Amino acid sequence: MTTVMADVQALEARHVLQTYRRAPVTFVRGAGVRLYDAEGREYLDLLSGIGVAALGHAHPGLARAIAEQAQTLMHTSNLFYHPLQGQLAERLANLSDLPRAFFCNSGAEAVEACLKFARRYWYTRGESRPEIIALDGSFHGRTFGALSVTSDPHYRAPFEPLLAGVRFVPANDPAALRAAVSHSTAAIIAEPIQGEGGVRPLTPAFAAAITDACHHTGALLIADEVQSGLGRTGYPFYSAAIGLKPHLISVGKALGGGVPIGAALISEDVAHAISFGDHGSTYGGNLLACRAALCVLDELIGGGLLAHIGRVGRHVEHRLKKMAAAHPIVREVRGGGLIWGLELDRDAAPVVPAALAQGVVVNRTAETVVRLLPPLIITTDELDEGLARLDAALARVEADGGPA
Ligand SMILES: *Cc1c(COP(=O)(O)O)cnc(C)c1O
Repeated sequence: MTTVMADVQALEARHVLQTYRRAPVTFVRGAGVRLYDAEGREYLDLLSGIGVAALGHAHPGLARAIAEQAQTLMHTSNLFYHPLQGQLAERLANLSDLPRAFFCNSGAEAVEACLKFARRYWYTRGESRPEIIALDGSFHGRTFGALSVTSDPHYRAPFEPLLAGVRFVPANDPAALRAAVSHSTAAIIAEPIQGEGGVRPLTPAFAAAITDACHHTGALLIADEVQSGLGRTGYPFYSAAIGLKPHLISVGKALGGGVPIGAALISEDVAHAISFGDHGSTYGGNLLACRAALCVLDELIGGGLLAHIGRVGRHVEHRLKKMAAAHPIVREVRGGGLIWGLELDRDAAPVVPAALAQGVVVNRTAETVVRLLPPLIITTDELDEGLARLDAALARVEADGGPA
């Protein structure tokens, strides 16, 4: 181990709260889809900081926009107007068909806002709707509200009691959903593709059941698109692609391309129920964050990135399926666009260090899944290079691990 790595580790061990089990790599620099560690070793980044660095690293346009904004004005609070929030809200409205945005600083905060706005909607209407329906395998964030609709008992148990009235339904089970949703349901919350849950898309049949249940009971639909939204799947939002019509959408991750920003996107109906003072955030939607997000959306919409993602997505699918066929430990390949999961027949944890050793960054989620969330700007050549390294890593894991 290098002295830089050892020093960084020792300092963190003394002073940083030990909530993350980090891989022993210290990244110090990035360029495009590549990362460089403290020793100057190069890695192909197929994870983009969990779907955040949508434009890759050190993107010249984004870097220039942020620097320019920092030299002009970064933050004034929501006590005053600035020119960028309305511009960003308008772009998001055009992308999502939801006309209004509330800005915050993370995915969990976007989910919190959606949950609060759903509650507020029924409060305004004077109807008692104590229940929220969430899905098994869901992940919505670590704050209390978001955690209350997150299913993993390991995340929940130490912090109970959580929000009352949350009921979990198996994903992709239309009958179970129909049975659970009633006139007591304030909202259904679902990820169109469960990300942390192992890259599991909702089926069109399940999406139809959600739409039906909302239609019959008036329950609101919150689509959590923090991971699946903003082009990740080749669509602006995956909810629309599978036929959902959400009243609220949470976004985060890719929105700022690395600058923290989240947003709740809101239907006119729900927006009507919200009053001055109902919710707020000191940082939410400040100039720096909005400027970064405007730059990301410029690339996504004006820069032809959506069509690019569709193209490279089909290429990755083809490559991953070939790779799966060559590796007995890979059971299934799931995903679309630039979000993919390789379901293994065993714990996927050893793949991460094996991949790092080959110079490629991926992660493991839901125990048995290797997840890929490459920067949205990645080219087919870069993908081929990264996947060749992943191929070698899988071969190593197979050789080391023997049969499951
Ligand atoms: C990552 C994620 C969140 C939480 O976002 P944070 O920025 O970590 O708070 C919420 N929902 C989904 C679907 C996510 O993937």
